[in-house]
Amino acid sequence: MGIAGIIGGSGLTRLENLEILYQRIIRTPFGEASGPLTFGRLEGHEVVFLARHGYGHTIPPHRVNYRANIWALHHVGVSHVVAVAAVGGIGARMPSGSLCAPDQLIDYTHGRPSTFFEGGEEPVVHIDFTDPYCPNIRSRLLQAAGLQGLGMVDGGTYAATQGPRLETAAEVRRIERDGGDVVGMTGAPEAVLAREIGMCYAPLALVVNPAAGKSCEPITMQAINDVMHEGMERVRQVLASTVPLLGDCPPCACGAAVGPDVLRALRSGQELAWKRRAPAKQEADLAGSGSS
Ligand SMILES: [Zn+2]
Repeated sequence: MGIAGIIGGSGLTRLENLEILYQRIIRTPFGEASGPLTFGRLEGHEVVFLARHGYGHTIPPHRVNYRANIWALHHVGVSHVVAVAAVGGIGARMPSGSLCAPDQLIDYTHGRPSTFFEGGEEPVVHIDFTDPYCPNIRSRLLQAAGLQGLGMVDGGTYAATQGPRLETAAEVRRIERDGGDVVGMTGAPEAVLAREIGMCYAPLALVVNPAAGKSCEPITMQAINDVMHEGMERVRQVLASTVPLLGDCPPCACGAAVGPDVLRALRSGQELAWKRRAPAKQEADLAGSGSS
């Protein structure tokens, strides 16, 4: 495998147990990622960390440059991504504080650039997304939780909403009827883009509140933060235990969603389009990427 990547969400803008080696700004054809990539070691294993909302948590879910983030991680050789997410719980098996390794996704977001294949100079590509998450990462998340003596719900459908507002009770009832188990704002298009570029990807979700209408209590940031503070400590334990397990992943189908020819065309096409788009800026960017 390549390098393990961790995308931190709300409540996880840094990993205390990560031995940081250096940070690196990656320039991408899609603009700037949420921040520089942090290279470090977790349990002795190389890891690249990126805070999805920026290291100061300043980028809301609908403004995250998901394409730049995924492109940047892929560019430096990340092959397996664990994407941490704070979510609302819907079903009875998802009380606050639960850890969950979802196995399905419903995308309710809109207006977000959600593909690398925009047509035009790039090929038209329809990836197989029947199973949106890497089974190898999922199984290792569950294994890691077990090793740490922590509970983790195996499976569940992640419903990705637009945000940044929380949902209405009616929206949550609809999501529940659709089969959603947890609701968050960042799971799409992040997972889509990872699959398009051939990276293994799976979310690690922490339920930080009952979704709208699922509790008599009002949803407050204070209550969310309290659960998040305690829960992210368990998330860090699971991550530290998962990363060493990723090294022996058997072959999976994640990288085969698009063929190598199409991937090559995507990469070269994007680079070409980028160069044509901004010839003056290109030199500076290329100079920057050469030393990055
Ligand atoms: Zn995979």
